[in-house]
Order: sequence, then C-alpha cells, then structure tokens
Amino acid sequence: MSHTSSLGINAFMADLMAKNPAEPEFHQAVHEVVESLNTFLDENPKYKHARVLERIVEPERIIMFRVPWVNDKGDMCVNRGFRIEMNSAIGPYKGGLRFHPTVNLGILKFLAFEQVFKNSLTTLPMGGGKGGSDFDPKGKSDNEVMRFCQSFMTELYRHIGPNTDVPAGDIGVGGREIGFLFGQYKRIRNEFTGVLTGKGLNYGGSVIRPEATGYGNVYFAREMLKTRGETFEGKTVLVSGAGNVAQFTVQKVNELGGKVVTLSDSSGYIYDKDGIDDEKLKFVMYLKNIKRGRISEYADKYKVKYVENERPWGEKADIALPSATQNEINEVEAITLVSNGCMCVSEGANMPSTPEAIQVFLDKRILFGPGKAANAGGVAVSGLEMTQNSMRIGWSREEVDNRLQNIMRSIHETCVQYGTKDNEFINYVDGANIGGFVKVADAMLSQGAV
Ligand code: NDP
Repeated sequence: MSHTSSLGINAFMADLMAKNPAEPEFHQAVHEVVESLNTFLDENPKYKHARVLERIVEPERIIMFRVPWVNDKGDMCVNRGFRIEMNSAIGPYKGGLRFHPTVNLGILKFLAFEQVFKNSLTTLPMGGGKGGSDFDPKGKSDNEVMRFCQSFMTELYRHIGPNTDVPAGDIGVGGREIGFLFGQYKRIRNEFTGVLTGKGLNYGGSVIRPEATGYGNVYFAREMLKTRGETFEGKTVLVSGAGNVAQFTVQKVNELGGKVVTLSDSSGYIYDKDGIDDEKLKFVMYLKNIKRGRISEYADKYKVKYVENERPWGEKADIALPSATQNEINEVEAITLVSNGCMCVSEGANMPSTPEAIQVFLDKRILFGPGKAANAGGVAVSGLEMTQNSMRIGWSREEVDNRLQNIMRSIHETCVQYGTKDNEFINYVDGANIGGFVKVADAMLSQGAV
C-alpha cells in the first residue's frame, strides 16, 4: 500500500468514526473492505469520482422503534427494535433479524454492511439489510416469544414487503420466531406474500433453507481445499456454536467423511474425540431446538470433556469452521490454530475472526474463507425461497441443493478472480470484498445520485 493511499484510508476512517461514534464492529467491517478496495479504486477512478465508497457506508435508511410487550407474570417489558436498510441498488433489502441482548445499532450496521457485499456475491438480485432487537429469547416461554414477535411486527410491517425489504432469521431468530412474525404480518396486511424467508415448509418456506448456511460453508471450504488437492475425507474439524449454522455444518462434514470434535455455546465448549456422529447430532438438535438447553448437557450425556467459559480453538484440528458469533477468534487463538496444523478456516458466522486473527491466517498462507463469501449460502437459499414464492411453486431438495452448490462454486470463482495475487496466493478477503463491490457499485453508477 502506498503512503498516500494509507493516508487516504486513515482520513476516510477518521471521518467515518467521527460520524458513527461508539460503533466498533461497524468501523471494523468498513476498515476491512476499504483496505481491500484501496488499490482497485486507484486503478478504477470512476468509483472515486462518483464517491461510491462514501455513499455505500451510509445506510439508505435506519428505523428504530419501541417494542412493548407483556410477560407471563403480567409485567410490562420494553425492548428496542431496529431495521437497517443499507443498500437497494441491486434488489430489495435482504438480511436477517437478530434477537440477542448484545444487539445494538453498531452491530446491526456492521451486519447490514457485510450483507450488501455478500448478497451481491450470490449472483441473485438482493440488496442488503439487517435488523433485530436486544430482546433475549433465552428462558422465555413460547407465549412470551410470540407476544414479543407480534409487537415487533406491529411496527416493522409498515417498512417491509416482498418488493421492498425481506427479513429472515439470524441469531435467536429461527423457524419459531419467523412463524410468529409472518402470522402477524399477514393479519395486519391481509396479504399472504413472501415478505420473510426461512418460513415453514407448510406456509411457503423452501427446502434446504435451514441447512443452507452450514451446508454452504462446507461447500465453500470444499472448493478452497480443492485448490490444494485436499478434501474433507479423514479431516478433524472444530466447529463453534451449537445453533442453526453449527448443526448443519456438522451434518455436512460428516457426510463428506470429516470428523467434528467440538461444539460450543456462550457458556463453554465440548470436546468429543470420537466425533459428533449423526446420532449425537440428533441429540444436539433436540437439546438446542426443542429443549433449549445448554451444550454442557452433551458432555454429561456422552461423558466427554466440557470446558466452561472457553472457546474451542486450543484443540488440535485440520479445519476450523467458526459458527457462533463475531470476534470469537482472536490473534492468540489464530496463532494456536495454525501452529496446531490447521490448514483451513472458513467462517460460518459473520466476522468471527478479529482483524489481527485474519492477518495471522493470511501471513501463514492458510486457506481463509471470510464470512461474506463462505456463509452466503443462507441468504442465497433465501433468495431461492423468494423466487419460489413469486412463482408460487416449490422446488425439490435436489433442485435447491444443486443450485446452492452452484452458487457456492460461483462465489469461490469470483474470489479467485479478484483475489489471486502475483504469487498465486488466493486472498479470499480481497476477492470477496472487490467481487461483491463491483456489481453494487456499477448499479449505483447507473442509477445516478442514489
Ligand atoms: P443461533 O441462534 O441458531 O445459534 C447461535 C449460537 O452461537 C448459539 O450456540 C449461541 O450460544 C452462540 N452464541 C451467540 N452469541 C454468542 C456470544 N456472544 N458468545 C458466544 N456464543 C454465542 O444462530 P445462527 O446459527 O443462525 O447464527 C450463528 C452465526 O452465523 C451468526 O454470526 C450469524 O450472523 C451467522 N449467520 C447465520 C445465518 C443463518 O442463516 N442463520 C446466515 C449467515 C450467517 P447461546 O445459545 O449460549 O447464546
């Protein structure tokens, strides 16, 4: 990077931070993209002249609202609801809703920003958005979750629609929550449309949507491994999280002949040296999706190691698939992973690796798939759900899975196209950022001052 360019980045970031104070995750996500784009923008001045970067970091619209609801004891509770409508240059806003006590404006802006590039990479016509609430579904009854979802949608409905903004799930928002949200939207609008994705199969959902993010990440990692003549067969794999993404990641790794030895939640991680086979995975699905218990119960049942308040990155493995949350692999953990022989890190979660951790992976030249490319399978199948809803048909598992595999392959090709360096090393971070940027930026140029 030239001296002048790094000064340019510093000035741009200083301005962004002054305008968006106290939003470290948003700053982190923007900084990564700006660094990747630096040389590309120097070589393509039309984007600089049109100030595309300055525009793309500014959300088109932010909606914040009060969500009042009554708990089972009859007490009035209040949470904050958000929807960030980040960019609609290439399609309606699209991105998940997150219900978690850590949710705030900066976290949702980082997620919405990433979503713009991710959705562009899928090749499908979807803009970027993200939303959610600081509501914590943990420990709440089904009725409380329903009342919360109904109150949330009572405000959100006026801002979304199948051609405007189509939310989906994320942390804390799975099939149960999407059902309650959809039901309320339908009552208020008197309209049955594809306004949300991740719906149940009996009311407009797509097959493979629950599986898509985890499967997609494994498909992406498979493509990366192929560039080095490797496969999942016989590999030991670390997975973090125990939710939607983690569960289907384990399922696909098992199918491809790998062995997953860890899972985690916000309380700690389990290590099962024999591997989490399909039978044990069934138990995890029951534990997390129905009983809504803690991952430590896995260790009690199968008599394996449980480490409280720790993350799994100290365990020895060939591949790591982080699938819990942002900034869950730091620099020290990255060094440990690599020195333990890890050859591939592919991000199921959004921004799970800190910038310092990413630098370790790049310096050591291991295969590193950033979330905006590697976990795009979820939103890709959401896009396919929108298509099926518009056509009022439902495709078979085989059809959707084939399309998902093709999309993940195409995202990999885009990363190779834009991320291959002179020394043949594929920098997937640059590849995903530049590849995702070009389509959105060109659409913005065509549309004038938008
Ligand atoms: P779930 O709510 O189903 O599962 C999340 C898992 O991560 C849980 O095991 C949870 O543990 C753990 N977790 C959440 N927050 C924290 C935290 N602050 N510290 C430690 N552990 C935490 O969510 P998903 O599986 O859907 O999402 C996981 C990741 O994948 C997120 O980064 C999400 O943005 C990303 N993603 C999801 C997509 C999807 O289609 N669902 C699409 C693309 C990306 P606990 O139960 O203890 O909170």
